[in-house]
Formats: sequence, structure tokens, C-alpha cells
Amino acid sequence: MAKAKKAAKRAPVKAKTAKTAVKVNARTKVAARKTVEIRTSAAAVASVAARSVRGASKIARPHLVRKGDPVRIGVLGGSGIYGMAGLKKTKWRKVATPWGNPSDELLFGELDGAELVFLPRHGRGHVHSPSEVNYRANIDALKRVGCQDVISVSACGSFKENLAPGTFVIVDQFIDRTFMRQKSFFSTGMVAHVSCGHPVCSRLGDALEAAAKEAGITAQRGGTYLCMEGPQFSTQAESFLYKSWGCDVIGMTNAPEAKLAREAELCYASVAMVTDYDCWHPDHDHVDVAAVIRVLLGNAEKGQALVAKAAPHLKSRPETCPQGCDRVLDAALITAPEKRDPKVIKKLDAVAGRVFKA
Ligand SMILES: [Zn+2]
Repeated sequence: MAKAKKAAKRAPVKAKTAKTAVKVNARTKVAARKTVEIRTSAAAVASVAARSVRGASKIARPHLVRKGDPVRIGVLGGSGIYGMAGLKKTKWRKVATPWGNPSDELLFGELDGAELVFLPRHGRGHVHSPSEVNYRANIDALKRVGCQDVISVSACGSFKENLAPGTFVIVDQFIDRTFMRQKSFFSTGMVAHVSCGHPVCSRLGDALEAAAKEAGITAQRGGTYLCMEGPQFSTQAESFLYKSWGCDVIGMTNAPEAKLAREAELCYASVAMVTDYDCWHPDHDHVDVAAVIRVLLGNAEKGQALVAKAAPHLKSRPETCPQGCDRVLDAALITAPEKRDPKVIKKLDAVAGRVFKA
């Protein structure tokens, strides 16, 4: 399938075909990753576009989930994942939000009896850089259409010898080094401070761990994800620094997303798929580009297989999340009710509709 032919890496690079002779600076893996392209099949994109449904750009009222509603799982696909294999009854829908447009239309479908909404984080064809992804719109859109659980699947570099390319990490902590992103739905007129001590949902982590076992994917449960601004990769000094901090993997997108999902009272979990050893590893100075492409292709396929296996585990959901992800705003709103700005509150209709309606 054309999807499987798409190769990508964890940050946008200048497109070239894989057949293009790729000159690799053998000194660092970073240089190699810069030369690896996102091979996007024009035919696949055209076919997806033909199936897409152009919706109105009006902001729809949020779907407030009620008891007994079927579970709707949101999936954010990173580099290399621009669709979801096995998804049935699919329909691309445009979803507008008060925070602007999400990265792309949302793909609605069914997977093994579970309702799933897929959003390619960088857009189909990988058009948005990590700094420019509208994370607020992406999270708002998923919440607005009734998702309660969100699984993030993205490519990453590794800081650990045992986390070899092809290994998955079910991330449970973040260090956020980004500085050019909008990372909160709250602002002057409505201030909130949510807890991020445990930034991912362990219930989703359990499902992903079980799914990885079923799919035969080597996955580490737990790990710290260093989120860098990018789009350039680390210098070697930075790579050594992050490694010395005990980080497991490095990427460019997940920390802002996790924080926003927490503010939006969504259960969120992240799977980081290792493509390389960043640039710290002494034995990996010389990069075999064909091997990197193979890893990217394999990870994209395995990432989709993982989601397919996780979906049945998430079909039924406890009334409330045992970790409290869906109730964090109960203790987070700090602005006095009489000082709250109605315009700001209005924008929070999907994110915080539950508390403001209460
Ligand atoms: Zn949760």
C-alpha cells in the first residue's frame, strides 16, 4: 500500500526522492537524517484528497460526552504516519476551532469496532514544522469531536544503547525545551494551573503496553522524552547533555501536546518510535541511509499495528479516569469568577466546557 511506502523522519526536511543520491555527512547521524527525505506518494495523496470531505469552516459546538456514548479514540500521527491502516468507514472532515485550524482535516473511522479519529500532526504531505504545528487547534479539535483518549505516535532519537532503532518507548515523562509554541489554552482573563507531575495517562499506557506485546513489538514501558524546539537536530554537546540528564528519547512535538491534552482533560499517552541514536553514539557516526529509511518505514507500519491492537483495549472506558485526567480542572482554575473574561471563557467551550457548564 502506498502508505507503507512513505518514509519520513521526525522533523521536516527538504523533500527529495529516496532514489536521489543522498550525500551523507558521515560525521553525524544528524546530517544523515537531514538528507533523508519524506517520500510522499503523490498518488496516495491524490487519492486521499479525492476522498476528503470539505466541511464548513464554522466552529461547531463541542460534542460533550455523555454516559453511554461510544468511546472515541483520538490518534495523533507523527512523521511517517499520515493515515491509519485498517480503518473502516473512513471520512475526512474539516474541524474548525477557536484556536485556528488543526494541522489537517480529521479522519473519522472504525477500527475493530472502536471509533477512531486520526489527525496527522504535520498534515498530509508533512507541511507543518514542529514549531508551527497548531497544537492548541489539534487538541481542541479532538476534544470538540468527542475524543476522550488521545494516543500520540511519533518518531524519535534515542539516548540509550538498549533503545536501538526500531524500539518503541511508551513515554511517561517529558522535559520541555521548546520555546516557540503556544502551550496553554488559558491566559489573562482565565488563568489555570494544571498538574503535570504525571503527564501521561497510565490507563492508556497499560493498553499500549499490552498492544505492543500482542503485536510483537519491542517496547519499553516508561521513559523520559526530551522535547526540543527544532527544526534542526541537536548539536553533539546538547546530545551529551540530554543523555547526562538521563533522558531516554528526543523529539520535537510531544511535550506541548501532552500539556494541552492535560488542560483539555483528555487522557493522553505517547509512543516514541526510535529511528536513530541522535548524534552521541560513537559507533554510529557512519550512517547507512538505506537502513534509516528501512527503520522509518518499519516504524510507521508497526505504529499503525500498535494502534490497531490498542483500540480493542480502549473500547470500554471507566466512567472516570482512575488517574483523574478528565477532572484536572476541578482544582486548577484560579481566576476569581467575577474577574473571568467571557471572551476567553467562550474560546474554552470544548476544552473546559465541563467545568464552565457545571
Ligand atoms: Zn487518564
